Amino acid sequence: MLNEILELMEQEQIFGWLGKEKTQSLVRNITNTACRKYDCNSGEILENFTDRFELCYGCLADSKDLEDGLCEVCRNDMG
Ligand SMILES: [Zn+2]
Repeated sequence: MLNEILELMEQEQIFGWLGKEKTQSLVRNITNTACRKYDCNSGEILENFTDRFELCYGCLADSKDLEDGLCEVCRNDMG
């Protein structure tokens, strides 16, 4: 559900207006709230958006080094 909302916001170019840092902060807050209060999955919320936002879905860190949406630290954790 939130993934579709992010798509709607992207279509309206809201993230372009906000700029990278505010976008990351907003998306991180939305994702944290959703996961903490509503048992959402950060991977589903950020699907197709991790590269766009340069956010890791595992730890929500700011990272340009993403593979399948995960930063180097999270990739090593899983491996
Ligand atoms: Zn990570």
